[in-house]
Parts: sequence; C-alpha cells; structure tokens
Amino acid sequence: GEFQLCYQPKVHQDGEIESLEALLRWQSAELGPISPNEFIPIAERSGLIHAISDHVVETACAQLRQWLDRFGRAWPVAINLSGKDLQREDISARIAGVCERLNIPANLIQIEITETGLSENGELVAMHLHALAQHGFAIGLDDFGTGYSSLAKLSEFPISVIKIDRSFVSGIGHHERREQIVRATLSLAQVLDCIAVAEGVETREQLVFLIEHGCELFQGYLFAQPLSVKEVALLLEMNVQRVPGVGVNSLIDFDD
Ligand code: C2E
Ligand code: MG
Ligand code: MG
Repeated sequence: GEFQLCYQPKVHQDGEIESLEALLRWQSAELGPISPNEFIPIAERSGLIHAISDHVVETACAQLRQWLDRFGRAWPVAINLSGKDLQREDISARIAGVCERLNIPANLIQIEITETGLSENGELVAMHLHALAQHGFAIGLDDFGTGYSSLAKLSEFPISVIKIDRSFVSGIGHHERREQIVRATLSLAQVLDCIAVAEGVETREQLVFLIEHGCELFQGYLFAQPLSVKEVALLLEMNVQRVPGVGVNSLIDFDD
C-alpha cells in the first residue's frame, strides 16, 4: 500500500500532451521516499519485481479505465518493464489479459524497455516483444544509447519509439560529442521510422536544438514533472471542455 504511480507527460513541441509515462513512487513509512532507481534493481535481484510489475500494469490499466469512464477519453500510458519481466513466460499474455478484462484499447498502452533489458535470453524476449506489438502496443526503447548492442536490437525487435537518454540531452549546448550523438540518434530514428522522444528536457536551449534536428516528442521538467492522478484528472477535464490551447503549460507555471 505504499506504492503510488505518477504520470509524466510526453508532449509535442507546443506543449500538447501526446501520452503519459507511469512512474512508480515508494513512500515508505519507515524509510521515507525511495527512488525507483534504488528499489527497482533490488527488486530485480530478489525476484519481487514480478509482483511489482503486475501491480503497475494492473494499477495503470485500472486508472485508464477510470479516466475513460469519467472523461470519455484518456491519454495513452507508457509502462516501464524490467528486463526480468521479459524473462517470464507469461508476461505478454498477462498484459494483454489485463487490458481485455478492463476493456482498454491497445492503442492506449505503450511499453518501455531498457536496452539492458534486452540482453538476456533473446528468443523469449523476441517472442514477447512481437506478441506485444502484434497486440497493438507501441514499444519504446528507453535510455537509448546507454546500453549496448542497441543497433542489433533495433533491427531485430518491433520497436517504434526511441527515447534519447537524459545524459545526452543534458549535454546540449556545452558538450559537442553528446550533441552529435543526439543528432545521430534523431537521424537513426527517422531512417528506422521510429518516433524519437527526448528525455529530461530542462531548458529552452535543449528544446530548440532538439526541434531543429527533428525530434518529435519531449519529456522533462521544462514541460512537466511527473503528475499526480489528481493533476492528470484536472488536465483531462480541461481538455474535455475543449479550453483552447490547453496543454501542460496551463497547469504548470511555464516561464516563456
Ligand atoms: P525512466 O523510465 O527513464 O524515467 C525517467 C526518469 O527521469 C524518471 O525518474 C523521471 O522522473 C525523471 N525525469 C523526467 N524528466 C526529468 C528532467 O527533466 N530532469 C531530470 N533530472 N529527471 C527527469 P524516476 O521516476 O525516479 O524513475 C527512474 C527510473 O526508474 C525510470 O527511468 C525507470 O527506469 C525506473 N522506473 C520507474 N518506474 C518504474 C516501474 O513502474 N517499473 C519499472 N520496471 N521501472 C520503473
Ligand atoms: Mg521510461
Ligand atoms: Mg529513460
């Protein structure tokens, strides 16, 4: 009962929301807030990750159902899967099963996996990714550029979204090599017909550079922090009422 999901928007360059990424928060009564960067690797080692991922899939899908019932619409939600999840025999069928039970259209679910998640047991991973893609879920490669053998993975797996890691985005403006890597990744995404998402966009300078080089979607504190369920509901409500120009900027103080 100490886990909570928050939802960080991925936006178009004008701030319009394209989708949300579900990010897990652990507020421990004993230890205080604990970052997923800390507890996810431990859960992966102990095997608890399976129960955690089941909880995240169930919670995100139930949330989508609630938004759909209440507002008649919802933004697609991206779920982060661990490499360990892709080693489970039943993971793709399980996710599809939850969506079917809650009547969630497949185009409202995206899956994010990290490159390191793709390194073990390639056959099972390939089977799951093809099954998930076949079901209609978009699959994104998270933290692109920080893992290894990513080009081989891009050619083998049905990946339609590439998320450029924050460490490269943060180099824009003062680290030429990282800028070149961002440019090269954007070209690669274009050639492979993948949608490019920049992670950790914090400054206008980064945004301008990314737009100039063809990046389509952006995620980061410049637009929005991870939002609570309440904040997302507020945005959905404004959106349903078709208030002109409503994007995350209307909720978050956007310094022009
Ligand atoms: P990620 O999937 O790459 O998520 C992006 C992380 O960057 C999130 O951290 C987000 O809060 C943070 N972030 C977003 N915009 C900015 C920005 O502009 N500047 C900075 N400095 N940071 C930004 P968070 O929520 O702490 O999550 C860290 C990692 O933990 C995630 O990286 C993901 O790999 C993992 N994680 C989070 N939730 C889940 C989950 O439900 N399941 C699994 N398996 N992993 C999760
Ligand atoms: Mg992610
Ligand atoms: Mg990432």
